Amino acid sequence: MTPDRLDRFARHIVLPELGGAGQARLATAHIALVGMGGIGNPALQYLAGAGVGRLTLIDDDVVDASNLQRQTLFTPGDIGEAKVAVAARWAVRFDPALDVVAQQVRIRADNAAGLLAGADVVLDGSDNFATRLAVADACVALGVPLTSAALGRFQGQVANFAGHLPDQACYRCFVGDAFDATDCDSCADMGVLGAMVGMVGAFAAMQALRVITAGVSTLGDPQWGQLHVLDGLAPGLRTMRITKDPACGTCG
Ligand SMILES: [Zn+2]
Repeated sequence: MTPDRLDRFARHIVLPELGGAGQARLATAHIALVGMGGIGNPALQYLAGAGVGRLTLIDDDVVDASNLQRQTLFTPGDIGEAKVAVAARWAVRFDPALDVVAQQVRIRADNAAGLLAGADVVLDGSDNFATRLAVADACVALGVPLTSAALGRFQGQVANFAGHLPDQACYRCFVGDAFDATDCDSCADMGVLGAMVGMVGAFAAMQALRVITAGVSTLGDPQWGQLHVLDGLAPGLRTMRITKDPACGTCG
């Protein structure tokens, strides 16, 4: 690591749980972020801050005035522009050493594998089940771990999945097949508090960093299949275990 990188990441490197080895691993890692909305914004900020060397940003949406209350990378001047373009511009300015690729495309079952191949982790912060299931199925097929993050009003859910491993659940083991045809979940209908998506997005970034540093530093415990449920109202955190479904259509 060069002296300026050592300076930049000094507070990481002194952590025994991460150390120089963990920081060096982050620099070579590739994380694909699906959804550059309320969860993707803070996740990108903390992953870029952590020095994750390569970031692929995938989202087909443009910035809307109603996004500004929680999607903190965007400003009024960005309204109408592609979210991935604005986010990538921020990331390159924030740390010019990072390799950031913007993909303005809607990810679907027929293009997910091509977009996600080569990633070390996929962080999914998208806002609908059709996208989530397409991403989750592609991750199992590609053998890529998935950090899944979702939000409903004041409840956040974050979990790491490794459904390609014989004894680990995938996202579809968790939610089943019922949501394939529906697009029922939307912030527009339910409302969402900005600080709540910040909590969930930062938590998801933390869980993705665990996957990246597995086998390198003690932070690297991926906690496969452990679903962390954040309650923003109480507040509190519960954790439950998702077990592999032998009848799962994706990984069973
Ligand atoms: Zn499964």
